[in-house]
Amino acid sequence: MWCERALLPTGIADDVVISMDEGHIVDIAVGKAAPLDSALHRGLTIPGFANAHSHAFHRALRGRTHRGAGDFWTWRDEMYRLAARLTPENYLALARATFAEMVMAGYTVVGEFHYVHHQPDGTPYAEPNAMGTALVSAAREAGIRLTLLDACYLRGGARKPLGADQLRFSDGTAAAWADRVGQLRETDTMRVGAAVHSVRAVDLPAISTVAKFAADRGAVLHAHVSEQMEENAQSQAEYGRSPTEVLADAGALSDRFTAVHATRVRPADIELLARARCTCCFCPTTERDLADGTGPAKTLTNAGVALAVGSDQHAVIDPFAELRGVEMNERMQSLTRGNYSAETLLSFGSSNGYRSLGWSEANAIEVGALADLITISLGGVRLSGAADDALIDSVVFAATSADVTDVVVNGRIIVRDGDHLTLDVGAELRSSILALAE
Ligand SMILES: [Zn+2]
Repeated sequence: MWCERALLPTGIADDVVISMDEGHIVDIAVGKAAPLDSALHRGLTIPGFANAHSHAFHRALRGRTHRGAGDFWTWRDEMYRLAARLTPENYLALARATFAEMVMAGYTVVGEFHYVHHQPDGTPYAEPNAMGTALVSAAREAGIRLTLLDACYLRGGARKPLGADQLRFSDGTAAAWADRVGQLRETDTMRVGAAVHSVRAVDLPAISTVAKFAADRGAVLHAHVSEQMEENAQSQAEYGRSPTEVLADAGALSDRFTAVHATRVRPADIELLARARCTCCFCPTTERDLADGTGPAKTLTNAGVALAVGSDQHAVIDPFAELRGVEMNERMQSLTRGNYSAETLLSFGSSNGYRSLGWSEANAIEVGALADLITISLGGVRLSGAADDALIDSVVFAATSADVTDVVVNGRIIVRDGDHLTLDVGAELRSSILALAE
């Protein structure tokens, strides 16, 4: 594949030929004329982005939940009504379309935080991983790399049973969850990760079971952490400890752990996350949409915590919006510009996200790396006239997902000149979402 310009670890180079084999980059040659038989990539080619936190089915809520007032909890009621209508068949269609939208936007791997496991009354499907398998098929057909973060979800809140609309999330016990998740098989583009939905939804002994399952397999472990003040209050009331402290007590914190949101973490929590070399995944477009507030990005990274990003509920699917959202939210809080360089923000989107999802061979344009690449057109209205010595700044601070023209995942071209090569993504989104509309 010939690239007009490519972002190498040493900086931007011109006329780069990238050779790939079995999903990895095997050779890079700079200053080469375009070979006649190679795919041409005009614009700037960079490592693909990781969407480190996704709930694919929330895509069907886009545009339907923004009107009116309320907060996270009122939004959650609408989300539960949608979750109740999912089946393995309609979920496959919706997730395939959503993952395809992601890959067109420049995400080359997604961490799907999966908790809609069973039938609406909680009865397992004949194939206990029917819903997870639907997500795996959806990712394969959409052409995106997947880490299936299968989430343990056992209760409705501190000392509270599951509500009727939460029955299908639960395996009953953490041991039963581990049994089911242990049956999932990985491939070269799919890995299995573990998740604790939250300290609200999983008690401390069960968190220990999930953490041990992940540690035994070297799998990554994710959890929603301190997204809401109410969540912190429940944890204090139950344990006299913050959610992060409870996770630490359960042995969940390590360099394989990602705290999603971390909006309301306190200094003691930040110290625990930093000491264990955890990642935090911010979801700026979602956190804004739900009026969650924004986490202490700079305090976390100063302490040594890595940041990644995710599109979570998919109010928009645009990696550039998430990345500059981290910087812009920090500016609004600190009243200071330039908290992160554009290059650092790119690394949150690519290498940090890949690591958070268990793809530690991650992701730079260098020999041995995964062949997950995206090309950004520099000729569109948003980026035309960009300064040669500030291309990355232009891309991070002004590009949108619409500027991504080509996407390669695992060495295969999935998106070419802005079109998905195998799916009519607009039509699939429309049909799969309307099929679920009330
Ligand atoms: Zn989430």
